Amino acid sequence: MILVFGKTGQVALELQALAPDAVYLGRDVADLSNPAQCREAILAHRPTAVINAAAYTAVDKAEDEEDQATVINAEAPAAMADACRELGVPFVHISTDYVFDGSGEDSRVPSDPVAPANAYGRSKLAGEEAVKAAGATYAILRTSWVFSPHGKNFAKTMIGLSDKHPELRVVDDQIGGPTPASAIAAACLRMADTLKQRPELSGTYHFSGTPDVSWADFARAIFEHTPNQPTVHGIPTKDYPTPAQRPLNSRLDCSDLAKFGLERPNWESAIPAVIEGA
Ligand code: NDP
Repeated sequence: MILVFGKTGQVALELQALAPDAVYLGRDVADLSNPAQCREAILAHRPTAVINAAAYTAVDKAEDEEDQATVINAEAPAAMADACRELGVPFVHISTDYVFDGSGEDSRVPSDPVAPANAYGRSKLAGEEAVKAAGATYAILRTSWVFSPHGKNFAKTMIGLSDKHPELRVVDDQIGGPTPASAIAAACLRMADTLKQRPELSGTYHFSGTPDVSWADFARAIFEHTPNQPTVHGIPTKDYPTPAQRPLNSRLDCSDLAKFGLERPNWESAIPAVIEGA
């Protein structure tokens, strides 16, 4: 039995669609603000693998709540990984492109130097380091720009704006891979299953959708599917200030996915499902 932390998030909901027999723990029974409770939950359920799809994901709010973000994004995953080590079962943990500083234009490989530019990124990096140190069989899956028919995400925001505004200004100097939550869910399940047979594949992996685009081009691709098609004007990040600094370069080199028989998902084909669900 696979045990999943998270019940209501984008990736957690897609996991439920793909693996209805797994056990999903919501905040009511496993609050990541209470790492010991997460550890106990794993030891009580005695799963064959654990996937952590829960996280503190409010990137801007984290600037004012870094301590809380760090408990949820680092101390809780540390406790989960420790319980997995104790049971001898694999732990799959999701992380982010925000561990990088976003400089340059090359795609980052997993071993490239990390230097998060915001509090959320620091909390997620602390989580990665704690998971690696715990000594369990693990996969850290760094992803980016997650979207799905559920929750809050850029694609849903653009769909919502498309029938209200004939013109939109969207950032065009941040480049990355939009990633369907459904593909992340499938990858987590594949990794958990593979690690049971091949613990030597423990490590950090990149998983983002292809092709890499700017937010402005992502918006334009979304509007090819909406009844109304606003004109998108590209603007630089400096003209769209946010509390948390965003990396300009979020390109991830995902070649190592081949070890799990996985490849980068095409994000364009996932847009219609989001529009249907909106
Ligand atoms: P969502 O924001 O959609 O969902 C977050 C989930 O975490 C919710 O189920 C939420 O539960 C749960 N959660 C938050 N705090 C706690 C807590 N204290 N105790 C228990 N559960 C909690 O996240 P995504 O599905 O988008 O993200 C999945 C993973 O991908 C995360 O690790 C995230 O860091 C990573 N990621 C996401 C990106 C994105 O663009 N969204 C980009 C890169 C990486 P509740 O509903 O109760 O609040």
